[in-house]
Amino acid sequence: MEKKGAILIISGPSGCGKSTLLKNVYKDISDYYFSISTTTREPRLGEKDGVDYFYVSREMFEEDIKNGYFLEWAEVHGNYYGTSLKPIKKALSKGKLVIFDIDVQGHEIVRKKLNDLVTSVFITTPTLDELEQRLYERNTDSKEVISKRLDNARQEIKSFQKYDYFIVNDDLKKASKELIAIANIARVKSKLHEKEVIIKNWLNF
Ligand code: ADP
Ligand code: 5GP
Repeated sequence: MEKKGAILIISGPSGCGKSTLLKNVYKDISDYYFSISTTTREPRLGEKDGVDYFYVSREMFEEDIKNGYFLEWAEVHGNYYGTSLKPIKKALSKGKLVIFDIDVQGHEIVRKKLNDLVTSVFITTPTLDELEQRLYERNTDSKEVISKRLDNARQEIKSFQKYDYFIVNDDLKKASKELIAIANIARVKSKLHEKEVIIKNWLNF
C-alpha cells in the first residue's frame, strides 16, 4: 500500500462521546477523511445510511468478509462492524488524515497491519456511572442494549494502555482541544516512515 497519509484511531466505550467530540473538532482539522464503517446494527433515530454507517444485513456482511473487502472487522455488542479497505487506500494515497471510530479489537488489527501510520487515542467518561447516565440521556437504545454496552465497557477500559493517548471526556471544550492536538501530531508522526524520500531530498539539497 502506498503510504502517504496518516491514520488516527479513536476508541472508547459506546456513549463516552466520540461522535460528539468528532463533530466538535472537524472544523479545526484540515484535510481529513472520516472512515464510514459498515454495520449490521439497526440505524438509530436520526442516523443516515452512507453518513453515519453503511447499514447491511448479516448475510451481506459475511459475503464481504469472504471477498476480503475489509481492512478490519469485529463483532461488537452482537453486531458486525467493519472498515472497507478501498476508500481507506484511496484517502491515504491522497495524503489525508484518515479518522477511524473503531473498537479495541479493530485497533489491534489496524496496528498490526499499518503500525507506522497509526496514532491512537482512547476516550472515556470520568466513571462508569457517568457512562450509564449518558447512554440513558442519549435515549437511543433500549435498557437491554444499554446493559450490553455497559458490560462491554467494563472489558474495553482494560485496553486503554495499548493506545498512544487517553482523553477523559468530562469538559467537552477541554477534551476537544486535546483531540485537536492529537490529530495534529498524528500527521507529524507519520512523516517518520518516509525515510528514503526524506534522506534522498536532504542529500540533494
Ligand atoms: P459515542 O459516539 O461515544 O457513542 P455520543 O457522542 O453519542 O457517544 O455521546 C453520548 C451522549 O453523551 C450524547 O447524548 C452526548 O450529547 C453526551 N455527551 C458527549 N460528550 C459529553 C460531555 N463532555 N459531557 C456531557 N455529555 C456529553
Ligand atoms: P455504535 O453502535 O455505538 O455506533 O458503535 C459500537 C462500537 O462499535 C463502538 O465502540 C465503535 O467504535 C465500534 N465500531 C464502529 N465501527 C467500527 C468498525 O468499522 N470496526 C470496528 N472494529 N469497530 C467499530
